[in-house]
Amino acid sequence: MVIDWTGLRAAAADAARRAYAPYSRLLVGAAGLTADGRVVTGCNVENASFGLTLCAECGLVSALHATASPEPSGAPRPSLVAVAVVAGDGDALLPCGRCRQLLLEAGGAALLVDTARGPVPLGELLPAAFDNADLSARREAG
Ligand SMILES: [Zn+2]
Repeated sequence: MVIDWTGLRAAAADAARRAYAPYSRLLVGAAGLTADGRVVTGCNVENASFGLTLCAECGLVSALHATASPEPSGAPRPSLVAVAVVAGDGDALLPCGRCRQLLLEAGGAALLVDTARGPVPLGELLPAAFDNADLSARREAG
């Protein structure tokens, strides 16, 4: 799959312009390319309680699922293959730790994440990650 990084960065910058960030004034947009060729976006949404603030990647992952075609139970979930996260000025931002974990479940360790030095696999940004295999391997029977 050819990844249009320029288009993905532009979609992220467009989402950043819609961010609700009255407290930090750090506008953040994220855009992701899905395995079925869609582009989904998110922006950060702050809250006066601060602890409830949502990162742009949270909105992106929600949009990934909310905009996917309904699939029968047991079908593969929609997934991401590439993600760009930018600040309001268009410069690349790295996802925070929480969002790296969210993105892992939405795209796996091979998910390409844009950085200031170019795209890198998410596995490099979140080594030795906890994932759903850890749950199934350690879940008690019954
Ligand atoms: Zn985050």
